[in-house]
Amino acid sequence: MTDVDKIRADFPILKHKIYGKDLIYLDNAATTQKPQVVIDSIAKYYSELNSNVHRGVHFLSDKATTAYENSRSRIATFINAKNSYEIIFVRGTTEAINLVANGYGNEFVKEGDEVIVSYLEHHSNIVPWQMLCQRKNAVLKVIPVNDDGELIIDEYKKLLSEKTKIVAVGHTSNSLGTKNPVKEIIELAHNSGAVVLIDGAQAVQHTKVDVRELDADFFAFSGHKIYGPTGIGVLYGKEDLLNAMSPYQGGGDMIKNVSFELTTYNELPYKFEAGTPDICGSIVLGDAIEYVSQVGLDNISEYESELLKYGTDKLKEIDGFRLYGNAKNKASVISFLLEGIHPYDVGTILDKMGIAVRTGLHCTEPLMKRFGIPGTVRASFAMYNTKNEIDALVDGVKKAKKMLS
Ligand code: PLP
Repeated sequence: MTDVDKIRADFPILKHKIYGKDLIYLDNAATTQKPQVVIDSIAKYYSELNSNVHRGVHFLSDKATTAYENSRSRIATFINAKNSYEIIFVRGTTEAINLVANGYGNEFVKEGDEVIVSYLEHHSNIVPWQMLCQRKNAVLKVIPVNDDGELIIDEYKKLLSEKTKIVAVGHTSNSLGTKNPVKEIIELAHNSGAVVLIDGAQAVQHTKVDVRELDADFFAFSGHKIYGPTGIGVLYGKEDLLNAMSPYQGGGDMIKNVSFELTTYNELPYKFEAGTPDICGSIVLGDAIEYVSQVGLDNISEYESELLKYGTDKLKEIDGFRLYGNAKNKASVISFLLEGIHPYDVGTILDKMGIAVRTGLHCTEPLMKRFGIPGTVRASFAMYNTKNEIDALVDGVKKAKKMLS
């Protein structure tokens, strides 16, 4: 990869001290830090462009609308959507999934139908489907995982039938790092006549995603996990499916005509963007994606794999270290426990050394139950992390073990 020091220099927060120590930020699966171009772009929007979109005839409104729509096109290109109007701006992955569970689910899932999710899912790719199934008297089915944290595809095949209407699976697990064989999962679902939503929250920042190559019907991701702002995310949907769906929320901009007798809805993508959107966030997300594209996802992926291998090998040398998530195909996430020690205690000690990791269930309670554990300590790496930081993590874990044993 291009020089990691050069990349680190783009992220001002990495220069900060925590308790007088260098910040070692290893909580990237929760949210990533922001490069200066993203921070500048937020200031630029409010200093030079701020105005509401799609509504004004005046200069600033026109400029803001152009920037907003240009960002949509950039994002379409980034994931290789056919049309920019297949990109819907939402608050994040969670809202994207809720939009589909309501807009598609309410329309097309009937009593007795089935929706399939997997054991690896984040709560945001479980609960909206559970709520849908409750509304519709439909049945939620779950693809099991093996002890390495990989989906058991033979079991998935057995779950599929003509009753399956929707399959919703994550591209990459936030808890264990498992990268799922999503292309195969999609093909199998399509053979059964189901549509597929891919939760890409942990994918787009690590791997090149091509929604048309995958043949995904819906694909969701969050801006803040790909070096962009919080509060903005993307739902991609195939044009014909989005057109067949009912709107998720009512309000301004999503309508063509309103009368008390009958309201008609706007065309894509506006039908799903009721009210004033996060204009700044949408524009800045385009800049974050531009930054990632310039570094290059192939470079990022290769470098992060190197960090993953380095960290896993070193941590495995620690007596009592137990790794959760041993998938052959893995993103840069190391989830672990130290025998006999609660993950929260390890995380708290690491924090005092300036090392930020996540501890707990990682919004994947059913998965933690499956492994019979109270949660894990999770270190997740991004393009700006270094082997020196991993050495510090390993030393920190050793010290924590000594203090807590
Ligand atoms: N799906 C996965 C796999 C995630 O890791 C997350 C966040 O951690 C989400 C969904 C929810 O994302 P957000 O909170 O940005 O909506």
